[in-house]
Amino acid sequence: MMKKGGCSAASIAMILVIIGAINWGLVGLGGFFGGNWNVVNLLLGSWPVVEWIIYILVGIAGVMMIFGCKCLSCKESCEGRPTTMNQNSSNMGGN
Ligand SMILES: [Zn+2]
Repeated sequence: MMKKGGCSAASIAMILVIIGAINWGLVGLGGFFGGNWNVVNLLLGSWPVVEWIIYILVGIAGVMMIFGCKCLSCKESCEGRPTTMNQNSSNMGGN
């Protein structure tokens, strides 16, 4: 699964967002079934600070998914898409 969505940071962000989404879904399901299905809390409940850091990382990853990664490898991966046409300014013809 390398180089699918860009650089490793973008891949990690996507994985974190997926983990956060699934975990949040489990929290909701656990509420109905009367159990704590918060996997992050179950795994890291003994270390609250680590647990909070995971939540913060998931939040940062979500923001990253909104704005996109600006690194070179991510730009290259987006080259084929027509959504970045505006960035190619036409002022390079300097004669
Ligand atoms: Zn990137």
